[in-house]
Amino acid sequence: MKQSQSLIYLDANATTPVLPAAAKAAMDAMEHLYGNPSSSHITGLQAKALMEQTRQAARKHLGSGAGKLVFTSGATEGIQTAILSALIAARDNSSANKTADERACLLYGATEHKAVPESLRHWNKVLGINARVLAIPVDREGRLDLDFIAAHGAYALLICTMAVNNETGVYQDLPALERAIRSANPQAFWMVDCVQALGKLPLELAATSIDYAPFSGHKLYAPKGIGMLYIRDGAPFTPFIAGGGQEGGLRSGTENLPAMAALKVVLDMLNGDANDRFADHATLINYRLKLIAALQSAFGEIVLNHSLNNSVPTTLNFAVPGFSSKEIMDLFDAADIRVSSGSACSSKVTGSFVLDAMGLPRWQSESAIRLSFGPAICDSEIDAACERIIRAAGSLRHSCLLARDSKLDDGSRTPLSGLLQFKDDGACCWLYVEPQSRSAVIIDPLPALEQRLLGIIRCQELTLRAVVDTHGHGDHSSNREGLVAKLGLNGETDHLGWPADCETIELQGCHVEALSLGNQQLVRIESPGHTDDSITLAMLDSAGKVLFAFVGDTVLPGSIGRSNFPQSSTGALYQSLKIMHKLLGNDTLLLSSHDYHNDFFTNFAVEAAQNPLLAAVLGGAMDQAQFVSEKAAMDATLNDKAGETIMCGAYSQCGSTKGVKEYSTDSLEQLLRDNSDALVLDIREPHEYELSHRESRCINVPLTRLAGFVASEPQARSKPLVLICRSGSRSLVAARALERFGFSAIAHVAGGYALLGNRTRNAA
Ligand code: PLP
Repeated sequence: MKQSQSLIYLDANATTPVLPAAAKAAMDAMEHLYGNPSSSHITGLQAKALMEQTRQAARKHLGSGAGKLVFTSGATEGIQTAILSALIAARDNSSANKTADERACLLYGATEHKAVPESLRHWNKVLGINARVLAIPVDREGRLDLDFIAAHGAYALLICTMAVNNETGVYQDLPALERAIRSANPQAFWMVDCVQALGKLPLELAATSIDYAPFSGHKLYAPKGIGMLYIRDGAPFTPFIAGGGQEGGLRSGTENLPAMAALKVVLDMLNGDANDRFADHATLINYRLKLIAALQSAFGEIVLNHSLNNSVPTTLNFAVPGFSSKEIMDLFDAADIRVSSGSACSSKVTGSFVLDAMGLPRWQSESAIRLSFGPAICDSEIDAACERIIRAAGSLRHSCLLARDSKLDDGSRTPLSGLLQFKDDGACCWLYVEPQSRSAVIIDPLPALEQRLLGIIRCQELTLRAVVDTHGHGDHSSNREGLVAKLGLNGETDHLGWPADCETIELQGCHVEALSLGNQQLVRIESPGHTDDSITLAMLDSAGKVLFAFVGDTVLPGSIGRSNFPQSSTGALYQSLKIMHKLLGNDTLLLSSHDYHNDFFTNFAVEAAQNPLLAAVLGGAMDQAQFVSEKAAMDATLNDKAGETIMCGAYSQCGSTKGVKEYSTDSLEQLLRDNSDALVLDIREPHEYELSHRESRCINVPLTRLAGFVASEPQARSKPLVLICRSGSRSLVAARALERFGFSAIAHVAGGYALLGNRTRNAA
């Protein structure tokens, strides 16, 4: 296994490591000051003294004046407590009878942490207040719309805003906000979520009319499980946790003294009462600029998702054109750089609601990456981060996903050959590179992939023979013409891109047109039905054997192409299925233009086993008229809803497979010791594989090349294969697909390399 490298942690807005001095203070408290602050003996009194010193340090830093400062478990608890207190007071203030007014509302900033709107809705419902819960819009720079506050503020029971946004670092102009709120409504309660402001912006809370301000220790080098809530002197308060009466009855439960001891260390540093110092504002600004310069040098182009003029210098949110958040996250994780994405990393691309609220283009939201650091970071860590970022992006150049730049190029390029499958929202595009001649074809090009395909063709110096659509697509547009123009491919073709100057050859008694790629041939089989222009393209080796076939939407994994479009013919589809089966047989790998359920590829044997209608057609047990009637019933289950993706296949079933066997990293070692045939497939992309450690006896089969692996390694079907990836999610998806396809001994490593990392650390 490769040596693991040091971790670069740039996700401080999610949480921070505990500073060594703070951890030591927590440990001292656990070992020596373990008393219960409520106990009246000396050990208890000592514990209480430490607790009060922490509170004093916090009061000093936050300028809490005559206000209260209550310790909580974290900011989410502080937010609950504040909202509960304000809403109960609003409800009980029956003389004003404000909650009964149908215009009554609860306002929150549109970019607020989810804890705020969710808690507002929750307590609004539980307390039976039923006020309107309204989001205050923000402008392109993330600033709250003060006109909205002016318009709705008069009816607001509670207004919730944040000092600094956790995704973008954007801070609000609190004095201007206060003027807007108070001129609209002097009485409304006002909560300011100050979680991301602690240690980053000066706060003098008692000098403002802020009623509640929650904080969280783990965002600034204290442990998880400690937070604080500031309550303005005179602001109403209802305990969220009742019990033993700790915290003067405001918040019961035995106090988390070790965490308070750690928090005190951090607060002392902020107050200048400790020897250690945090970096000053100017230094932090400089650090962010250095990171931006490194990212620009690494990726060529980045787009900032917020302005540097109204955001704290410890946060940087950006997008790399052409890459999703997930791709950059995977890349950085492989390089041992921890960052965060704006969007949830699910297989379905989602965006960041914060960036959406700011009105940024959708692609920026879907590609958002956040780097964040704390003020304890130093020069050498920033330099190491910059160097690592540049190295990580270099691996994208090796696999031609970034334009190659002579300045950064170290000369190595991994030559590409075989089949590649790209996906965008359920649609598939294929690239095939014939290994000897390095000539290539692109099948069903998708607009979203234009830059990626252009980059690969150019950087790999491939000879592109054709760009072909398997049919005129109805659900999405083809990018065939754009690609052909940009790559300067001239030569006469038909409307699908099939070249005019093809020779005609014989394939099992049928005359078919053939396009040569080195000593292989791509042959065209007419297969109308899904649309009247549908074709199938089969790749033949030099001996004329079919290697695999691009079948468009005639056959999809788990379904047969729908045939109820105006340009469809179910009768023709029946005939096409029969011809394709005759020419391709049961076992040829079928590569479709859609893959809605992550099955990747299929063949007639797999489909017929799951789809009685198809089995009847292929087995000769159903005539055309019966197929037409049964297929119509199947297609009728596809309800196209406005605004939703048009499904191109009628499902017989959704690939339910038995559970994939799971290995832990320990049982994997055992397998590799005991079974010399067993192979580990690292399912991550080549640039991730290049960057990070890997298991022994491992080959790299990224998801984009799973079909290529199946096509080129038929003997692997019966071998014990264990799939591994970063977190266990891609490996599970791929293992399911291979199992569905008939691989008999397939398994994956649950938790992936993430847990392998744990094991190595535990063993160290
Ligand atoms: N508010 C903001 C702005 C945050 O960033 C977070 C944490 O992500 C929270 C609230 C919730 O804090 P805690 O984890 O202490 O409950």
